[in-house]
Amino acid sequence: MRHPVHSSGQTRTQIYTSAEDMSTLKRGRQTPKLNRACMLCGMVQSMSQFRNEGCPNCESVLHFQDNEDVIRECTSPTFEGLVAVRGSSSSWVARWLRIENFVPGFYAVRIVGKLPDDIKNDLYAQGIEYRPRDGSVQD
Ligand SMILES: [Zn+2]
Repeated sequence: MRHPVHSSGQTRTQIYTSAEDMSTLKRGRQTPKLNRACMLCGMVQSMSQFRNEGCPNCESVLHFQDNEDVIRECTSPTFEGLVAVRGSSSSWVARWLRIENFVPGFYAVRIVGKLPDDIKNDLYAQGIEYRPRDGSVQD
């Protein structure tokens, strides 16, 4: 199934509406299944990427590596709008997602689910403000 691709026409950032679109675009190459979104930064990776490498943005605070419980609690398999952010911190999408300082990769626009309270408190103690990405917080 094809979805329309939304693009500003001005940046190299493209928005794909589903992981299926991505695999169509990368036809012929083995791509890991992008099926979990980090609830803190929105980065989308495969379960095994989170397990092997952790979240490139949040590993120092959430410790995903070899910790499937944390992966299950702090990532969500339900998300919308996969955005490819390619290192340009001035991209409108990066600004819109508030990920200026994050590594290039795929990010979910909207994630269903919230971090558990104990983890939120943990982040708060480290000076990190968690903003749910499920649409419940408006700027
Ligand atoms: Zn993250």
